[in-house]
Amino acid sequence: MKTFDVVIVGGGIIGGSIAFDLARRNLRVAVLDRRELMQEASWAAAGMLSPAPDCPAAIPLVPLGRASLELYPKFVEAVEDASGQSTGYRMGGAIEAIFRGDAERELSTLVALHHGLGLACEPLPLDEAMKMEPALGRDARVAAFLPDECSIEPRKLSSAVFAAAASKGATLRPGAEVVSLAFDKKKCAGVKTFGGEIFHAGQVVLAAGCWSSQVPDAAPYAPTFPVRGQMAALRHCGTPIGYVLRSEDGYLVPRGLESPQTIVVGSTIEHAGYEKLVTSGGIEKILAAANELVPELAKAEIIETWCGLRPGTPDQLPILGPADVDGLVFATGHYRNGILLAPATAKLVGEWITERRIFIDWEPFSPLRFTGASVDRSATA
Ligand SMILES: Cc1cc2nc3c(=O)[nH]c(=O)nc-3n(C[C@H](O)[C@H](O)[C@H](O)COP(=O)(O)OP(=O)(O)OC[C@H]3O[C@@H](n4cnc5c(N)ncnc54)[C@H](O)[C@@H]3O)c2cc1C
Repeated sequence: MKTFDVVIVGGGIIGGSIAFDLARRNLRVAVLDRRELMQEASWAAAGMLSPAPDCPAAIPLVPLGRASLELYPKFVEAVEDASGQSTGYRMGGAIEAIFRGDAERELSTLVALHHGLGLACEPLPLDEAMKMEPALGRDARVAAFLPDECSIEPRKLSSAVFAAAASKGATLRPGAEVVSLAFDKKKCAGVKTFGGEIFHAGQVVLAAGCWSSQVPDAAPYAPTFPVRGQMAALRHCGTPIGYVLRSEDGYLVPRGLESPQTIVVGSTIEHAGYEKLVTSGGIEKILAAANELVPELAKAEIIETWCGLRPGTPDQLPILGPADVDGLVFATGHYRNGILLAPATAKLVGEWITERRIFIDWEPFSPLRFTGASVDRSATA
């Protein structure tokens, strides 16, 4: 039997960032993952740090996204210092190009939407865009510059975050699948694993990505589901690409500037269950979008393809905050924004657990929005 202050279920970027935050506050923390750590959505992500909403449903998320982007430089510094590893964090902005439809009108809407949400976004005359990014496709009709956006390398970041958490004393337990929460009367008092091990804890944090809904007793609070995204990496030997580039059909994220450059391109949004499959149709779609953004990429070698399962939620907002039973906190459902939201999520959960205070309103993301009534939890595991 093991006893911790906090047990975190799920070893993705969310679980790892919370573990690092709590371990720095001198709490005894354990992260349990059913597989190896950081092999799921957090490993698959592109690494854009963009607080812009990609649909109207995501607008309530913008303040949290902005706050997280502001936390990023200090978060990266702390993680890199503690781990001795680089995270591939890059500032510099993103260019969004529009290739179809009523492009001028789309551009004004894009700029107005950003300004209304307090996000920097300026129309970029095409000759300026071509100077900033000479490889940009000549078929672009209009473009905008988003100067505050950044990018990071999620695989490096996740590795550094867990190394940082371990350096501060966090216990990392891959291969520990949580099969139930353990209750002591009405309080959540730990978890039980598939192997029958019990981990006692003052607080349990549920951060199991799209699988959160599969943990018994967690499902009513966290009706998460998988949303598959396919990705590819290209080896680009042509004109270096300096910015994150996006169009209406896809995006590409350069990793560093040295030649040959690795360019990560994505992504699909598919409701295909828990099956992780890279398909010819999916890859065709993302490569077409990449080649339109930068036609030179048609000559680039495909060096890797992969996919990951984003943790979707019914209203496309994350699930953050305490349940209506003591000792149980949720940090899941980050859908397309978990890399961006990791620093803010860690700070929110860390401050709430240790000081019962929050630095930004998380009420819109409460797990109680799904439950309606409280659930009977008198059984013990
Ligand atoms: C293709 C793609 C591109 C993306 N691009 C971006 C991007 O550019 N920017 C951005 O901000 N976000 C992006 N995202 C979204 C981001 O990756 C996710 O929101 C984020 O990784 C979610 O992190 P997580 O830790 O909640 O989940 P995960 O990384 O999926 O981790 C959950 C972990 O929980 C474990 N687990 C599950 N069940 C149990 C159990 N019962 N017991 C123990 N462990 C369990 C799993 O094994 C897993 O390791 C992208 C996602 C994908 C798929």
